[in-house]
Amino acid sequence: VVRPLPAVTDREKRAAILAGNKVVVEVGALTKSYGPQTVLDGLDLKVREGEVVALLGPSGSGKSTLLRCINHLEDWDDGLVWVGGRRLGFDASGRKLGPRALANERAAIGVGMVFQQFNLFHHLTALENVAGPLRWVHEYSKEDAEKRARELLARVGLSHRADALPRHMSGGQQQRVAIARVLAPSPSVLLLDEPTSALDPELVGEVLEVIRRLAVEDGLTMIISTHQLRFAEEVADRVVFLSRGAIVEEGPAREVLRRPKNPLTAKFLSVMA
Ligand code: ADP
Ligand code: MG
Repeated sequence: VVRPLPAVTDREKRAAILAGNKVVVEVGALTKSYGPQTVLDGLDLKVREGEVVALLGPSGSGKSTLLRCINHLEDWDDGLVWVGGRRLGFDASGRKLGPRALANERAAIGVGMVFQQFNLFHHLTALENVAGPLRWVHEYSKEDAEKRARELLARVGLSHRADALPRHMSGGQQQRVAIARVLAPSPSVLLLDEPTSALDPELVGEVLEVIRRLAVEDGLTMIISTHQLRFAEEVADRVVFLSRGAIVEEGPAREVLRRPKNPLTAKFLSVMA
């Protein structure tokens, strides 16, 4: 569902609209440990429809684990995760879903994830990477899937690479294919885990530009972990700063990035700048 939202440049108007939108991702008291190490420490987060949230924090602070829990790629020890008003990953009687049922449920709720390492199918062309899941998970016919895949490749500026294999594409192109793939079934929530961290610096801009357009033109709800501070300031409605698995500061992107209140945030930002 595409809701026209004012561009991020019109921040006050956007914030007023977002405040009235429904919560589409809710994380409550989320706790997870690996052995003795607490990786998520009672974390609470609510994200409203159309909101763009940037997750910042030092390496090891729990950003990937949080995103993976929201997408139910990980189990956790305590707390709750709701996406699209549902407790993703469980059937009506509270039993855990298997991988196939979970993929179908993710598709039905409309949550997709983009990874640092692209995760494309190496033996498939760009077109097949986008069209394949539409057929396997979303029950598109071959013809419809290819038509939709071509639309999405055009969206990310890659019509001319439709028949290329991943290894013949640049990292930036591969990540744009991965974004086209995740967008193809029209998700309402998109999780992006350091989408530009694996890229050479000169390829970062083309990927950020695609993401920026999703926020501004499509009103997509997004949670993005990133170290790109300028991008976060331009695109995010809200910045959430993690340290040791807990939120130590959050607020409007500009406020947090320009005038951090927490010393951990301030230190991190001064090192990154
Ligand atoms: P970030 O994405 O912010 O860098 P992560 O969520 O990847 O942080 O990791 C948080 C912490 O959890 C780190 O200390 C990391 O070493 C640890 N961790 C992540 N995945 C595993 C795993 N599969 N087994 C053990 N420890 C892990
Ligand atoms: Mg990470």
